[in-house]
Amino acid sequence: MILTDDIVYLKGVGPSKAKVLATELDIHTCGQLLEYFPFRHIDRSVMTTVASLTEESGYVVLRGTVSNMQTASIGPRRERLTVDFSDATGTLQLVWFQGIKWVREKLKPNVQYLVMGKPTLFNGQWQMSHPELEVSSGERSADSPQQVPPTKFLPVYNTTDRMKQHGLGTRALARLTETLCSCLGNVPETLPDELLSQYHLMGRREALIAIHYPESQQQLEAARTRLKFEELFFLQLDYQYAHASRQLHSAGRVFSAVGDHFNLFYREKIPFPLTGAQKRVIKEIREDMRSGRQMNRLLQGDVGSGKTLVALMCMLLALDNGCQACLMAPTEILATQHYYTFLRMLDGLDIRVELLIGSVRPADKKVIKECIAAGETQIVIGTHALIEDDVQFRDLGFVVIDEQHRFGVEQRARLWGKSAIPPHILVMTATPIPRTLAMTVYGDLDCSVIDELPPGRHPVLTYHRTEPRRPLVFSFLKKQIDAGRQAYFVYPLIHDNPKLDLRDLEDGLEMVQNYFPRPQYQVSMVHGQLRPEEKAFEMDRFKQGKTHIMVATTVIEVGVDVPNATVMVIENAERFGLAQLHQLRGRVGRGADQSYCILMTRDRLSHTSAERIRTMCSTTDGFQIAEADLRLRGPGDMQGLQQSGVLDLKLASIVDDEPLVAATRNYVHDLLAKDPTLSAYPLLQQHIERSKNKMLWGKIS
Ligand code: ADP
Ligand code: MG
Repeated sequence: MILTDDIVYLKGVGPSKAKVLATELDIHTCGQLLEYFPFRHIDRSVMTTVASLTEESGYVVLRGTVSNMQTASIGPRRERLTVDFSDATGTLQLVWFQGIKWVREKLKPNVQYLVMGKPTLFNGQWQMSHPELEVSSGERSADSPQQVPPTKFLPVYNTTDRMKQHGLGTRALARLTETLCSCLGNVPETLPDELLSQYHLMGRREALIAIHYPESQQQLEAARTRLKFEELFFLQLDYQYAHASRQLHSAGRVFSAVGDHFNLFYREKIPFPLTGAQKRVIKEIREDMRSGRQMNRLLQGDVGSGKTLVALMCMLLALDNGCQACLMAPTEILATQHYYTFLRMLDGLDIRVELLIGSVRPADKKVIKECIAAGETQIVIGTHALIEDDVQFRDLGFVVIDEQHRFGVEQRARLWGKSAIPPHILVMTATPIPRTLAMTVYGDLDCSVIDELPPGRHPVLTYHRTEPRRPLVFSFLKKQIDAGRQAYFVYPLIHDNPKLDLRDLEDGLEMVQNYFPRPQYQVSMVHGQLRPEEKAFEMDRFKQGKTHIMVATTVIEVGVDVPNATVMVIENAERFGLAQLHQLRGRVGRGADQSYCILMTRDRLSHTSAERIRTMCSTTDGFQIAEADLRLRGPGDMQGLQQSGVLDLKLASIVDDEPLVAATRNYVHDLLAKDPTLSAYPLLQQHIERSKNKMLWGKIS
């Protein structure tokens, strides 16, 4: 049989099982069945004995004989079959609730069986329900045909309840893959020969068989490596091909001039010298902007590393070349804050900046839009409001997107369409993206990193405390506040019901106020239920130093900039993810004074919570934190990755297979540099044709 054959023609399948395979696992062809990989193998040569079973044994293999078969009625038309299974050391009871007739006919006394399954202790007696059972090798009966010689390793597959009900448990699936492997015809190779030999990879046919039925542990590993390689290779090919062809075909504006706006700002307006990292990144962006290709660049840098300033200066470059520029932020608070920052920094320069957010009055909005369309407004800062269809630019040349995870792919695509020649795009994120992820998901984006904080900043000191030490935490806070500093208390959103969250917050407020009584101390409270103007009012009071303490939910995660705040207490810190803790902590340490972050948790923590807290206490490096986050959670939970395809990987893991990720990335890179249209690789060209439809993301990031 060959891979494209309909699964229904495989011996042992038939129409009804084919239907179950299709609905449960989306398997329609023999090839899809072969690509349904076992998640583990049982080593049949490693036998356990009944006497040595423990609660921790897990899946085991035993060899012995059966006796004392009994059927009992356990309800209307429901029976239970029990059989004693014994080896030299003891007896265990096998139990069946289904397929009883078949088992009863098949089991024979005085025959050595291999029994595989997970034993459980029931009233002091070991039991195993619905075990896998087979005649021990050398004693196979005529009704268990063996086309392929029995291997040492038995594949174990994930199955669903519905599959089990239809006779498609893991053992049944193994029989199907065994049959298929024994009659498998030609399997086309998908990877170039030179790649196979360079990395000593197994051929595709051999690998597809060996991953189910390996002859040794080494062969299994080699098969897995080959198939992981293939998976990552095509992922890289898709992303990098999209990137390369965009570079070939999509012309970008050429910003050749460095003009008055940029120069004047650089010479006269920046109150401090740029950091080395800022200079380097501006240079990288400038190179892109005058290359004639459209820029798609990701700018990573921790909170406070000075990304906004870089964005502003690049916008001035766009202005110098006669274009307009815009900055899109995820929230109104953040957009508004950027707007005032820009106004302040551009003060005295002849540049018109406008803020376009949902809450601008309709009449004002109309005027702003007219000015944008007429080209009178040179810089526009806004939220989603920017991408509405009725916002027309005269000539949009440069787009900055802040905190990209909050924007969907589609929204970015709409910005793209706002100009005949696509604008250069700079995506800024303060959530560092681990290296392996960046190599895959953003394989088609160029990457710049600001890995240096402005001088004079001290890393925030982070401590873990539990309830008994709260009084000490409070007295430490008192000292800081009495010395003129300010502090945050942050509460997680725990409940589905916002009212309950609010109650936690109000309880917290009461506790804080008890310790810090009015009128000597003033406390602000901010949460998601407040109206925008109430929120802004409370934020302002805190910003102006009229309140000493801000009790808040995670609404302060982005966009609060109060350099005088030096302490952040995070309550129930075990409830927050690492990325969020890191973002929160970024709200302190923004001034010249030493800042502190105190993580309050309950006493006993789960392993991963404890690991998160340890990570936070041991580093302030966003990249290290992101790597730890990826390790602890796996890529499935990372924000913004839903559409990325990285989640569809069957075998490879971008966490554990970093060397393979790097190898495939480099290989594809060199390949495309040598042969951008893949003219010497018809197989790869065919793959590209097939996957083009799926590659929306690559075009519009
Ligand atoms: P980010 O956007 O990366 O979070 P910002 O651009 O908002 O960081 O910068 C944080 C603060 O640091 C701002 O107050 C900004 O004015 C200041 N800043 C930026 N670059 C420098 C620099 N080179 N030297 C000193 N301070 C800087
Ligand atoms: Mg910022």
